[in-house]
Amino acid sequence: MDRSAIRVPYVALPLRAARVKKELMAAIEKVVDHGVYILGPEVEDFEHRFAHYCGTRYAVGVGDGTSALILTLKGLGVGPGDEVITAPNSFVASASSAALLGATPRFVDVRREDMNMDPSLLERAISPRTKAIVPVHLAGHPADMEPILKIGERYGIPIVEDAAQAVGTSYHGKRAGSLGRAGCFSLHPLKNLHAIGDAGVIVTDDEGLYRWLLKARNHGLRNRDEVEFWSPNTRLDTLQAAVLTVMFGHLDEWIRERREVAEHFRAGLRDVVRVPEEAPGCFHTYQTFVVEAERRDDLLAHLRRRGVDAKVHYPLAIHMQPAARTLGHQPDDFPVTRELADRIVSLPIYGEMTSEQRGTVIDGVRTFYGA
Ligand SMILES: *Cc1c(COP(=O)(O)O)cnc(C)c1O
Repeated sequence: MDRSAIRVPYVALPLRAARVKKELMAAIEKVVDHGVYILGPEVEDFEHRFAHYCGTRYAVGVGDGTSALILTLKGLGVGPGDEVITAPNSFVASASSAALLGATPRFVDVRREDMNMDPSLLERAISPRTKAIVPVHLAGHPADMEPILKIGERYGIPIVEDAAQAVGTSYHGKRAGSLGRAGCFSLHPLKNLHAIGDAGVIVTDDEGLYRWLLKARNHGLRNRDEVEFWSPNTRLDTLQAAVLTVMFGHLDEWIRERREVAEHFRAGLRDVVRVPEEAPGCFHTYQTFVVEAERRDDLLAHLRRRGVDAKVHYPLAIHMQPAARTLGHQPDDFPVTRELADRIVSLPIYGEMTSEQRGTVIDGVRTFYGA
């Protein structure tokens, strides 16, 4: 898409940063001056705030969301020969995190209503080798956790929430990340709470897992000189923690703004496409605003012509990725996922969107359907 023709970009990160630039620069300058660039005080400060926000006892900052998943699964004992169950319509890391530990990802199809793991299909995917279940809170809407947690409990299998798209999301009064044994977040620039680069964080109430994760993100070091086990280096940077603390101070306001735009889109589009709805007891944070549409590819082209930069998350389901070919899946193994992959569109959504831009998005979709 010709950049100059874009009237509504998919994201507008510099606009958001500009709103807090003074605060950001002061926080960055403080780190530059104090010199504790690795595991500095800002990391622990951010971890405390984040754990408190999620309602968990502990948080551990890591290098990115994928590392959060890999370390958490490893900490729960996932390794070669094991299986990890997740959703096939997610970002690849929900499954690659298991594969990278030598385990096999197993998929459970999703429900049409919330595009998240269908709990009624979960039990039949469990085998004696299942070591963890990783529901994804896709787009910022929580997976239906109550039945998933019950099944996990019945089989003694830990639930790890892939909450990468769900900071601030809640399910019956509890924040995403605090429902399972652990919750893994990405703080990538496209997520609702983000660094100015890569970052991630894990939350848990499990003290043993927490203590293990502190070592696991830092070479397996037990202290300065002793390495307890082989582990990578994937710490949260002090500088990113400082940035995150500033962003965090505005998170609830930014979520409120996104929800306002979402409300506007829902009202303006519900008669022409299937718009996302909040399930009872759920609080959606609209990390992405995903509609289900007829003639999706033509709609995308129409929107592009009108300067609306819409995207698709994700056009190729994980089980159909070239990387997943050894799993031997057919597209129709997960029919809802397959169908959704051809019908979904993510519309641009952010609080900085002007009312003119909101109108451009709504008119763009409506005119396509002749409405
Ligand atoms: C973004 C994302 C991740 C990975 O996070 P990174 O920080 O990019 O490594 C994992 N799972 C889901 C569902 C995501 O959206």
